[in-house]
Amino acid sequence: MLVNLNEVLRPAKKNKYAVGLFNAVNLELARGIIAAAESRRSPVIMGTAEVLLPYGPLEEVSYYLIPMAKKASVPVVVHFDHGLTYDMTVKALKLGFSSVMYDCSTDTYEENVRKVKEMADIAHSYGATIEGELGHVGDNEGSAEGSSHLADPSEFFTDPALAKDFVDRTGVDALAVAVGNAHGAYKLPPKLDFERIRTIANTVDVPLVLHGGSGLTDNDFRQAIADGISKVNIFTDINVAAVEAEFKKFSDMNKGIIDLIPAAVEAVKLATMNKLELFGSCNKADGGIAGESGLSTTDLEKITKLVAAEVAKYMGK
Ligand SMILES: [Zn+2]
Repeated sequence: MLVNLNEVLRPAKKNKYAVGLFNAVNLELARGIIAAAESRRSPVIMGTAEVLLPYGPLEEVSYYLIPMAKKASVPVVVHFDHGLTYDMTVKALKLGFSSVMYDCSTDTYEENVRKVKEMADIAHSYGATIEGELGHVGDNEGSAEGSSHLADPSEFFTDPALAKDFVDRTGVDALAVAVGNAHGAYKLPPKLDFERIRTIANTVDVPLVLHGGSGLTDNDFRQAIADGISKVNIFTDINVAAVEAEFKKFSDMNKGIIDLIPAAVEAVKLATMNKLELFGSCNKADGGIAGESGLSTTDLEKITKLVAAEVAKYMGK
């Protein structure tokens, strides 16, 4: 089912797990992501980003992402990541994306507030959610997401007090933070500022987002999520997994691209499932209700079937 960020991130924040965003710039990526989420009964966020549009134009991507999300048996958010221009971000909303990020993090603080507040009002009028970024998450060299290389990233870390002001004044539903993370593949192991994550999480009410997740260690993720991260963006890992699988398959390919497609889908599915388990979102497709009641999803499914059977019996009388 197609949902917005609030529907998956609020339960995540409350129950201390995170929901992954995986970019799906082609059908293999989208199919792998959905297959992983359905097999693990996990909510998931999939989408594209403005810098990824050369690989798949926005309309074309929306033609498969939105119907696939609606058809899925788990909650799926279709998110436009790093909207950089007003026009493209509004276009995503018009095409039916259930969520957008409007990234004005390189503008002055007041410009960031003004522009994001304006977009938040538009997004909410569509019933969609919006993510903003405060501080600035830079890019590792060769990142598919951009080329904003920062000499000293700590100069751009998110300020906790400003974060509260930003959230209050813009009305964003989620906030991307800069805490030592960067897009693309890390050359040196990143050092996350966990203390800062904790302070921001205790200062603002909205769920926090960690960009540049590919390349962090499992422990980094566990700690960041325990400290208050509710959404993690992953692209490089699944992007690379797909092409590695295709490369392996290439040696015994005999029919052409149709040999490579299933290999890519399977690799994306496996890489995505790995992350869903690590982020703790498996069996949370019901919004974490199972977790809160102490019942497993299987228990809930059994109860639902029993109730349905009783209702059917009653109706038959
Ligand atoms: Zn990002």
